Amino acid sequence: MKLKNSVRKKITIKGTVQGVGFRPTVYRYATGLGLTGFVLNTTDGLIIEVQGDDDSIGIFTDRLKKQPPENAVIESFHVHDTLTRPDSTFIIKESINSGFYKEAEIAPDIAVCRDCLNDISDKNNKRYMYPFTNCTNCGPRFSIIKDRPYDRANTSMYNFTMCDSCLAEYTDPGNRRFHAQPNACPECGPVLYFLNHTMKNKNPSALFEETAELIRKGMIVGIKGLGGFNIACTPDIDTVDRLRRIKKRPGKSFALMARDLPVIEKFCFAGELEKNLLLSKTAPIVLLKKKNDLLDHISPDNNYLGFMLPYSPMHYLLMNYFDVLVFTSANKKDEPICINDSEINKLIDEKIIDAALSNNREIVNRADDSIVQVVNGRVQTIRKSRGMIPSAFATQITGKSESLAMGANLKNTFSLRKNEKIYMSQHIGDLMDYRNLKYQKQQVAINSELLGIYPEKINIDAHPGYENFNETYGKVFHHHAHALSVMGEHGLLGQDVLGIICDGTGYGTDGRIWGFEFLKIGRDYNNFSRTGQLEYFKLPGGEKAIHETDRIGISLCRQSGIYPDIFAKNRIEDVRKLIDNNINSPECSSLGRLFDGIASILGIADIADYEAKAAILLQREAENAHDVKQSYSVNLDISGSGYITIRHSTLIKEIINELHLYDKSVIARKFHAWVVSAIMQAISIIGPERVVFSGGCFQNKLLCEMLFDNIKGTGIDFYFNENVPVNDAGISYGQALL
Ligand code: ZN
Ligand code: ZN
Ligand code: FE
Repeated sequence: MKLKNSVRKKITIKGTVQGVGFRPTVYRYATGLGLTGFVLNTTDGLIIEVQGDDDSIGIFTDRLKKQPPENAVIESFHVHDTLTRPDSTFIIKESINSGFYKEAEIAPDIAVCRDCLNDISDKNNKRYMYPFTNCTNCGPRFSIIKDRPYDRANTSMYNFTMCDSCLAEYTDPGNRRFHAQPNACPECGPVLYFLNHTMKNKNPSALFEETAELIRKGMIVGIKGLGGFNIACTPDIDTVDRLRRIKKRPGKSFALMARDLPVIEKFCFAGELEKNLLLSKTAPIVLLKKKNDLLDHISPDNNYLGFMLPYSPMHYLLMNYFDVLVFTSANKKDEPICINDSEINKLIDEKIIDAALSNNREIVNRADDSIVQVVNGRVQTIRKSRGMIPSAFATQITGKSESLAMGANLKNTFSLRKNEKIYMSQHIGDLMDYRNLKYQKQQVAINSELLGIYPEKINIDAHPGYENFNETYGKVFHHHAHALSVMGEHGLLGQDVLGIICDGTGYGTDGRIWGFEFLKIGRDYNNFSRTGQLEYFKLPGGEKAIHETDRIGISLCRQSGIYPDIFAKNRIEDVRKLIDNNINSPECSSLGRLFDGIASILGIADIADYEAKAAILLQREAENAHDVKQSYSVNLDISGSGYITIRHSTLIKEIINELHLYDKSVIARKFHAWVVSAIMQAISIIGPERVVFSGGCFQNKLLCEMLFDNIKGTGIDFYFNENVPVNDAGISYGQALL
């Protein structure tokens, strides 16, 4: 050994470096180059010490940086000189718990890899048809972790003792399953079993055969996946009908799982980016445009279907029997997704599902399936959950701070921030239900422990409904948070930005309900000034108007002085009385509510039995009128100080005058064009260099595309949300930036 030229370096790496096969890669590179030393997981990340000649160490560090393991994300990589030691081999040391600070990123759950799929399809492999097969490149992560560092003892796999052959893989640095924490096989790992149905046979192939048989017969079956149970059934009309009745979900879309891409392409158009998303390690639900009406009853109100591909061995084995299954989150309306037998048994007891295929691998952290769509060639995240959580966003913010942001009331997520990093939580749900509130509270405690973030400060929405929170809480206005959410993800904090928010409802600085706002945000992004808005209109009955949209239609008509014959005289009188006597009729400037009102004037949605239904129906109508290019007249008021009010009475009059002349879809299309042209006119008056768009209305793909076509040639810099949800799920991220 030429100790003379021998040098030793200590390398510390931070980022997503645990649970992704980092240590075996380090081991392979080091031993391949004849280096000695060790690698070690700590709660902060990874420490490597390597010893050998200078050149080899150079090659080693270079290779590690350029070819890290597939699922690793390196955030920092530091190399220091250290004293040489007389070690003669390279070893992987036991993990040490380095105390209070936990900075190592936890990897999200990862869709099953090609190699593992080969294992389960090979008759001679011990994992043939084994649904819990995984390796360092794939499998559950976040859903099974209880504490850090990410070691088997800190996961729900602790309950399973590895057999000799699994242990041999686990301890062999050359093996694909080296330190794969959920490593398991049929001999030692989790097993499948059925609830509410006696299975004749316990071997997996028989279980899948029987499950498939039940589903084929039209049964509705719970299937335990990575982050929770799904409800699976065939997509045929009668079964879906029954599912809608028992889930009390008459019109809302269901997600689907398809065997493979070619099956999806029978029903939908899928571009390159959409295909890549479907096949990605995140394996989210991707909203795709329908090619035909074969599965129209799955999403009767819109032109899209939400498809995902099998993402765990279990799903692959099940989908061997089917082309397409309905695959929706297993929960009762507005409750968290079920993760254990006692929760899923309640659905069986209440006859919501007929049976369930469960297993004894405990789910520690709930996570629904994530949802994305591609808009203007970019990803738009609608729900950030399984496969995406937890992941950190680096922001431009500096300074030490640990905080919690509680998010919005609908589609709630919360965010934990540590210094420059923000970790969004999984999808929690609508907080009107106390079970979701409880879930939020529990998950705040769990995530903060897992991430090692102990908030000194809490940010909440500025709505006075949070009165019981005292002044130590930071208050952030809903639409300010929306604008910040785009600025944060695109690195725009500290620049002059015009935020254009097209949204449902949020509490504004004047105590009214906002939702179509132009907010100027300058260098000090803690503040904003409202520089334009949609003219206020009344919401007769308050919350009720969101469900009975004709209340909004009548309110808009009252302001414009003309009523269509669609509204009954006595209904008009009743609603008008509320407004005239100022009974529970708050004012709002929400674009979402304007969509509702117009849908009711067109007679396409009087009752919205799920959130945003009227807007979704209006979007579908508009999409069906491709050739219509005209818009209704935009009527803007500009005050002396330049404040813009977008009037809606001209719009309503023009629409009512055309009700008997044109098809609804033509009117819906012209209304979309009106929204875009109102935005473009306001932009040209305000004259910003940079605009950011956010708010739930931008889930409307047609609206985004029409806006994109209008703004792209103007030379204005513009941004939409991409990785942060565009809807209220993104609010907590925006709040956390302050
Ligand atoms: Zn694998
Ligand atoms: Zn085993
Ligand atoms: Fe919102």
